[in-house]
Amino acid sequence: MSKIRVYELAKKLEKSNNEMVGILKNMNISIKSHMSSIDEDLVTEIEAYLKSAEAEAQKEALDEVEKLPVVKVREGASIAEAAALAGTTAGGAVKVLMLEGIMLPATAPADENILKILSVKFNKNLVFGEEPLDASDAPTDNKIKPQNAPQREKQKMNQHSTKKSKKDKGKKDAAKGEALRPPIVTVMGHVDHGKTTLLDNIRKTHVTDREAGGITQHIGASRVEYNGNTIVFLDTPGHEAFTAMRARGAQVTDIAILVVAADDGIKPQTVEALNHAKAAGVPIVVAVNKVDKPEAKPDRVRQQLSDYGLVPEEWGGDTIMVDISAKKGLHVGDLLEMVLLVAEMEELKADAAASPEGTVIEANLDKGKGPVATVIVQEGTLHRGDIIHTGSAWGKIRAMIDDSGKMVNEAGPSMPVEILGLESVPQPGEKFTTLSSEREARDLISQSEFERRETDMNKAKRLTLEELYDKMQGEEVPQLRIVLKTDVQGSLEAFHASIMKMSTNAVSIDIVHEGVGRISESDVMLASASNAIIIGFNVRPDANAKKIAENEGVQIRLYQVIYDMLDDIKAAMEGMLEPELREHTLGLAEIREIFRVPKVGNIAGCRVTDGLIRRSAKVRLIRDGVVFWNGELSSLKHFKDDAREIKSGNECGLSFEKFQDFRVGDVIEAYEILKEKKTLE
Ligand code: GDP
Repeated sequence: MSKIRVYELAKKLEKSNNEMVGILKNMNISIKSHMSSIDEDLVTEIEAYLKSAEAEAQKEALDEVEKLPVVKVREGASIAEAAALAGTTAGGAVKVLMLEGIMLPATAPADENILKILSVKFNKNLVFGEEPLDASDAPTDNKIKPQNAPQREKQKMNQHSTKKSKKDKGKKDAAKGEALRPPIVTVMGHVDHGKTTLLDNIRKTHVTDREAGGITQHIGASRVEYNGNTIVFLDTPGHEAFTAMRARGAQVTDIAILVVAADDGIKPQTVEALNHAKAAGVPIVVAVNKVDKPEAKPDRVRQQLSDYGLVPEEWGGDTIMVDISAKKGLHVGDLLEMVLLVAEMEELKADAAASPEGTVIEANLDKGKGPVATVIVQEGTLHRGDIIHTGSAWGKIRAMIDDSGKMVNEAGPSMPVEILGLESVPQPGEKFTTLSSEREARDLISQSEFERRETDMNKAKRLTLEELYDKMQGEEVPQLRIVLKTDVQGSLEAFHASIMKMSTNAVSIDIVHEGVGRISESDVMLASASNAIIIGFNVRPDANAKKIAENEGVQIRLYQVIYDMLDDIKAAMEGMLEPELREHTLGLAEIREIFRVPKVGNIAGCRVTDGLIRRSAKVRLIRDGVVFWNGELSSLKHFKDDAREIKSGNECGLSFEKFQDFRVGDVIEAYEILKEKKTLE
């Protein structure tokens, strides 16, 4: 039995993918997404369903307008006359009728059916009746606008009519402020698998908006047009830049294209790339490249990718894979189409009217132009003259240049632009926002300079096993994330299995990436971006990786003995369990006398009767056996001197944090809260 994909069917029936998915679900036809396929036999049934749904919507709409006051139309009136009574122009009415398949001139007489159509469309209750219309009164010019086909009808159309196109949907969202925005795509994959060739081919073939004879301007990202839709490609292929940005907290990429050469299959960097994209939660579209080569084995690539959890949709999975030849430009259009499909499913949105925000993707100091940065706008619209602030840099935008080398005055969502006018060079990965004054910008810069130093200090501490726990608070089940590198494949498998066995309900383990060979810079960046630790067995980091790990505060643990490693992981996981808090009583004191000290307030003269009182302790004030107050000490004195602790049998002076209402005879209980580590069973 032949099959048809939902997105193909959507195209055929002129529906958006989301609408089509909705329709099928309404019909109880089980599908996962627009990528699923259904039996072609069902198509007739679906068409019939749509027809009846439309007829029903039409009928309901008619019922609605019939509730409105009757507008009489003289028998034999022309379409133009009926149009005037419906509150539209003759041309407007003819167009509406044309869309319904009725081709008539405005002078033709209207019939019942035409009145119905115009009534529904223009929300009027047009009925043939006796009161003849004086044709000379009929307004026939363009000034009369349809009375804003009221909201109600629009809602009805949304509910019942499935005729809405994708574009209408965009418009509707625009009214709310949010509209669909172009996807931003990164191309990833192993070296020599054809990333650059693919990007070149796409840019050459699908970039339309170029000045005559102009050369593609390299600004770090390019806009590509396909079937009237825009896709933005980041110019630097590979996952390094992607992960470096993520390590700085920025995520620009919406979709990753994973290029795998069909003559070479999966290689270490393919796995890295897919793990990096997965760790970032970015959807992957696979381009199985070089299918023009006789030795190409695209199915083997699919098999290999399935082993890594990317199951092609034609095999029942949900990863889209397209066979292409980047060199010959074969099926590159299909690939772009798939990217747009994924983008549509992701419903990427931004509000062009919001306050502008985005990310710096490239920055450098140009001898002539000064600091130059390419930014991608992620919310709002950036204008020339705006004052922007990136965290480490600020400036007033003197000029903006788009990817075709044109000067532009504004840049909306997903648009990459090079900006001039910054006072210094920002860091790629920094987020930008706009400010209202230069003064505000200067203040913020000094503030963020201060914060930067603070985070630098924190960074050094980040991700140590012992403190990872703090990071994980707030996560429902704390997760220990690991990048695992070993010397040989055999030990990798053994390690993987033993590590995963340690995952419990209380703390779960996620191996975000694993591989054979030295610990590389890319491993470190991935670990940093995903708050992971790196575990190496019989391998070492290279010098560069080591340096970056230090800068990024990523912990690398190296082992030669598997049990040492497992013990450490267990300790790390235990560290991540919320410690149990236990109260420990330190001692008791009794208030014997109250001293009033000018300006300072009341001091309780006490005698320690049991244990000891510590300056740092928490205290309770007990009056007649009832806890009267709970708080902290603000001072502990032995005669005139400050003391750290006073033992039983000694006198002391106590004052309390924001509390003075004590009396002679009150008892002070000092205690501490001890954190006790929970252990895994
Ligand atoms: P990158 O390292 O992933 O950016 O790979 P390149 O784009 O530099 O491509 C590496 C080599 O593969 C170059 O010699 C390309 O010409 C060649 N290549 C790329 N795509 C194809 C293809 O579709 N078919 C063939 N036959 N060769 C290709």
